[in-house]
Amino acid sequence: MSKSSMTYISSGKAKDIYETSNGNLLFEFTDRVTAFDGKKKAEYQEKGEITCRLAEYWFSILEAEGIPTHYINCPTPTSMLVRYLDIIPVEVIRRNYAAGSLLRRYDAGEVELPQGVEPEEGAPIPGGMIEFTTKFEAVDRPVDMKEILFNGWMSKEEIEYITGLTERINEILSCELNDAGIILADFKVEYGRTPDGKIILADEVGTPDGCRFWDKTEFENGTIKSLDKDVFRKGTGDLSIVYGELFERLQKQEEM
Ligand code: ADP
Ligand code: UDP
Repeated sequence: MSKSSMTYISSGKAKDIYETSNGNLLFEFTDRVTAFDGKKKAEYQEKGEITCRLAEYWFSILEAEGIPTHYINCPTPTSMLVRYLDIIPVEVIRRNYAAGSLLRRYDAGEVELPQGVEPEEGAPIPGGMIEFTTKFEAVDRPVDMKEILFNGWMSKEEIEYITGLTERINEILSCELNDAGIILADFKVEYGRTPDGKIILADEVGTPDGCRFWDKTEFENGTIKSLDKDVFRKGTGDLSIVYGELFERLQKQEEM
């Protein structure tokens, strides 16, 4: 399927989006990376291919485990065909450990940590926690159930449904990653509605753009070694090398 037979729709921060003649979407995973609401930007060789192949890897595993997703197939190493969805304007964040915006908001006095959780990067969150943020605003902001219901973004039953799916995704990813010596600290997922109103997993999942991955051995020795976009956010490493290492470790795990 050539791009000339498709309609260009838009470019997000990391992907270019096309519509196919039969109404599906084609994601072209680019080498672009952004952080801090688009203020920091760069391109890294092979990032597009690695994130596309990782998303494909996880979508296949999740589908096999019964999680409904928009994934169809990958016609090239950097592109993915997906079902067109009406995206729910709420991002879902699942945290196993304290990091990122949770700690920034705690420092600013905007959020309380679950009982017993230390206010430091790497502190475990017993039982984990789920947060919701806005999706289509200039800067994502946390939203609670009341605002989601008030705005009609989801019903109470739908919130419960996607919470359950996200918990299951967390279990599946955490288990696979653990076997590869990697901790899943947190991640973000998006959901959308099919024309018949069914809610399924959208966007990408399990990529280092949307998850925090920490090396387990280093963590047990008291150091956080990130295998994700934090190396770009914090300027602590070469993103291509780090993403490549993550991909190789998961590939090796798959071969075992
Ligand atoms: P962003 O700039 O939002 O981070 P990306 O570069 O990742 O975006 O581009 C993907 C865009 O496509 C996102 O806005 C996402 O919500 C949207 N999207 C993901 N899956 C689907 C789908 N199945 N149907 C319609 N839109 C989708
Ligand atoms: N995340 C994401 N897209 C967003 C916001 C967050 O993929 O727009 C991911 C992020 O990579 C991390 C998790 O969600 O794995 C939690 O992010 P957090 O709220 O801590 O914000 P951040 O520190 O990324 O600003």
